[in-house]
Amino acid sequence: MARRKNDFREEDKIKVLLWCARHCCLCGKNAGVGIEVAHLERNRSDIENAIPLCFDCHGAIGHYNVQHPRGRKYSSCELRSRRDQVYEQHTRHLVSPTNYRVTQAAPDGTLLAWYLVLSGSARFLVEFVRINPVVVMGLTQAQLVSLVLAAIGGWTLLARRSWRPAAA
Ligand SMILES: [Zn+2]
Repeated sequence: MARRKNDFREEDKIKVLLWCARHCCLCGKNAGVGIEVAHLERNRSDIENAIPLCFDCHGAIGHYNVQHPRGRKYSSCELRSRRDQVYEQHTRHLVSPTNYRVTQAAPDGTLLAWYLVLSGSARFLVEFVRINPVVVMGLTQAQLVSLVLAAIGGWTLLARRSWRPAAA
């Protein structure tokens, strides 16, 4: 079936459904097959404009009479923030404590560089409370290896002068 003009790309729909694990990005319930990828704003079909919602919430965000004296309409800013909370909730276990965009974005090497710096430093420090044999300069073999890895990561970050992965 042909894609409608403002429809999201199929791969983007799959991504956002994975990010929220099919939980509604407004009420937070596990919607299973009862989920839809809604638009935050009309006439935009980029992934940043997508928000997975259950049927009830999809109805609620579209249907609100601003003339009505009670209640408060959802703003797109509030919806986007709420959505990002739900994405974060269902992806943070993947690489803690980085944000879902980092864990889901196609890596450009920056994330790996950070991993080398942080895990290398942690491994270097943890060796001080371990009892592995000292090889040279009061350092263990694991410390020497972790120093090299951290240095590679640090050098990569410095050479690129970029501390965040490129946007997906
Ligand atoms: Zn909902």
